[in-house]
Amino acid sequence: MGRPAKSVEDTRRFVTMVAAHQGWKPIAEGEFLETLVQGLTTNHNRYGYYLCPCRDTLGARDQDRDVICPCTYARADIEEYGHCFCALYQSPEFQARGEEPRSIPERSPGRS
Ligand code: SF4
Repeated sequence: MGRPAKSVEDTRRFVTMVAAHQGWKPIAEGEFLETLVQGLTTNHNRYGYYLCPCRDTLGARDQDRDVICPCTYARADIEEYGHCFCALYQSPEFQARGEEPRSIPERSPGRS
């Protein structure tokens, strides 16, 4: 028997938990948050792990390891730009300023 599918609610809880644990804020409620949570859920049910919703798989978990959410680059991106590559997670300071996330450089080798 396979693992039960993740629901969007499961993923919401996951995102909230990661943000709380890391001292980040999820992107404000809205359509873009819904899209990212849906993307993570779809990826989990398709690949078996929370592949970043803004990146394509390289074909296997081992090759995707650096971009399983929260990715290896999230901390550095949040420190440097105020948000991760997808803007799902943000620093409290960035969010308090009310800035719009922007397109930031891809740090994952082979995905730029
Ligand atoms: S950029 Fe990293 S932290 Fe942000 S959603 Fe993608 S995998 Fe998660």
